Amino acid sequence: MFFASDNTSGAPPEVMQALLRANEGFARSYGGDDIMARVTTQVRTLFDAPDAQVHLVATGTAANALALAALTDPWGAVFCHRHAHIAEDECGAPEFYTNGAKLVLIDGAHGRITPAALTEALATTGASGVHGVQRGCLSLTNVTEAGTVYTPAEIAALTGIAKSHGLPCHLDGARFANALVATGATPAELTWRAGIDVLSFGGTKNGLLGVEAVVLFDPAKSWELELRRKRGGHLFSKHRYLSAQMEAYLQDGLWMRLAALANAMGQRLAQGIAGLNHAALTHPSQANMIFANWEPGGHARLQAAGAVYYDLRPLPDGRETARMVASWNTTEDHVDRFLAALKS
Ligand SMILES: *Cc1c(COP(=O)(O)O)cnc(C)c1O
Repeated sequence: MFFASDNTSGAPPEVMQALLRANEGFARSYGGDDIMARVTTQVRTLFDAPDAQVHLVATGTAANALALAALTDPWGAVFCHRHAHIAEDECGAPEFYTNGAKLVLIDGAHGRITPAALTEALATTGASGVHGVQRGCLSLTNVTEAGTVYTPAEIAALTGIAKSHGLPCHLDGARFANALVATGATPAELTWRAGIDVLSFGGTKNGLLGVEAVVLFDPAKSWELELRRKRGGHLFSKHRYLSAQMEAYLQDGLWMRLAALANAMGQRLAQGIAGLNHAALTHPSQANMIFANWEPGGHARLQAAGAVYYDLRPLPDGRETARMVASWNTTEDHVDRFLAALKS
């Protein structure tokens, strides 16, 4: 019962077989491999974006930090949710890679920035001339850190506000496939058609060994991103092994099948928890990540049964809280045993 994160799961056989195929013979290094050329074509086709540029890295932190560095000046403000991964979980990498840009944290229920809160943050940042940081870019996350999703219209409303100030927009899509499944939107609708300029396109949480793509819908930044990736130590020499994973991921809809499995198990768990008397969901659960709270004693029963997940800080009234994430190879049996332990 591994619900700590979707990255506690392994990689599916299609990906491992692709790595074995890529291991045959010789291939150009540093992204010059034939597989990478095919990956770029796959991404352009899937996103209906013939000019998009694609750069692979091995971690989501690198994807986010490099993307933000390409979007903002060192004296810029990166507008993001208070609990954004870039703010809480990247050890200052965005600040480091941007040479010191400031993250401006915006509150919002259930992991989502509201148009009013963004408008307010924009009005109060960059208004003191040379003395304050300047407005830099907007960074959104979908699936959000609270397990909710933004619809294309919600993304477009926020990017529209940012663009009215001339700001480019980044999307942290560590769980982008899960957001597509949850919204039913197309990749284009959830990104460039909704005003996203750069996407951190996750693969690892949804079944790769370790690959994320930085997708630039504005190819003008491509050379800069290329230089920043090398300078930051994130350009792989045996790049074919990254390309091969991403090619297999995008081949024949594997990525969407994996995300659909993860979301289905996440929704089974969320509905099960919502149906218990002594437990409740902390945030509405729309994809594969579930935040819940329950009466004291739940942790002890779950952990005795072998469940692995994040127990978070208890609520002021003593109720226990937790985060669970389902992955592509979570089974109904895992979910049902978790619910049985929580219930008993
Ligand atoms: C997991 C995750 C990332 C990437 O994290 P790495 O551990 O650096 O690969 C980025 N954003 C979000 C929202 C995530 O959940």
